[in-house]
Amino acid sequence: MTAKIIDGKALASEVRAKLKNRVSALTDKGHCPGLAVILVGDDPASQVYVRNKLRSCQEVGIKSFAHHLTKETTQDELLALIEKLNKDDAVDGILVQLPVPKQIDPAAIIRAIAPEKDVDGFHVVNAGLLMTRNKASAKAFSFVPCTPAGVMKMIDSTGYEISGKNALVIGRSNIVGKPVALLLLERNATVTIAHSRTKELAELSRKADILVVAIGKPKAVTADMVKPGALVIDVGINRQEDGHLCGDVDTKAASEVAGWITPVPGGVGPMTIAMLLENTVLAVENRLGLSH
Ligand code: NAD
Repeated sequence: MTAKIIDGKALASEVRAKLKNRVSALTDKGHCPGLAVILVGDDPASQVYVRNKLRSCQEVGIKSFAHHLTKETTQDELLALIEKLNKDDAVDGILVQLPVPKQIDPAAIIRAIAPEKDVDGFHVVNAGLLMTRNKASAKAFSFVPCTPAGVMKMIDSTGYEISGKNALVIGRSNIVGKPVALLLLERNATVTIAHSRTKELAELSRKADILVVAIGKPKAVTADMVKPGALVIDVGINRQEDGHLCGDVDTKAASEVAGWITPVPGGVGPMTIAMLLENTVLAVENRLGLSH
């Protein structure tokens, strides 16, 4: 079998095109969405991520406010900036690029962001709403973290029926693994979460109809761990010695076994940014009481 590629770059471009219309409708009404992006320090990967986010904002007409702070910035200084942005009506979304330097506690920073401006969906209020929402409360507003939201959109783009399937999420981080697992559960998959202490991972993985991998280890998932026909989403981004990026899945070999697979680069990465833009637009629509 040769897997169909789920093209995140193309899908993200479709999402951006639709968002452009929503942004221009809001801007015409005098509510141009605004996203504040805070970068603390000079981490080269973070600089690239921030640059891409700012460029994507511009592409769809979202106003961005870039705040580049030095690596010596104290937690109190960062908290003061967030407090200011929380009160700023031109700012609908606030994003602090992680990781932050070690003198700053990321949990305290995320807690300080107003939940209704937390477009990353990391605040405990948004995490809690995702955890507890059900059909009855589905209309209650919350931000879903961008990477998990992008993963779900990628699965849905294939027309794959999630309900009743065995899903394995490898990785249990708050920003990827746990929320992806909740979203799959919400869609009636039977979900298992695996992690660094999981025993017999390959055996579990071979039973998964849907395999979402977010580990951060190059090509850790090999072709023999993939069930024939499975839908494989590779969240990992790893830089190899030759400078090229690769995922957590051995894409080439796994493509011979899987039914669908996401490439790295050009898979989950572009979708994550598209979902950040969508959350920023949602922040404005929610504030104005508009549904899209
Ligand atoms: P993390 O480091 O917070 O978590 C990694 C998880 O993998 C942990 O839960 C750990 O238990 C598990 N793990 C580690 N080694 C394992 C192993 N050998 N077997 C099974 N599980 C193992 O990472 P994260 O923030 O969730 O990110 C994971 C990967 O996804 C990284 O490569 C990161 O760069 C990438 N990422 C990509 C995007 C994107 O937009 N594409 C967004 C976020 C993260």
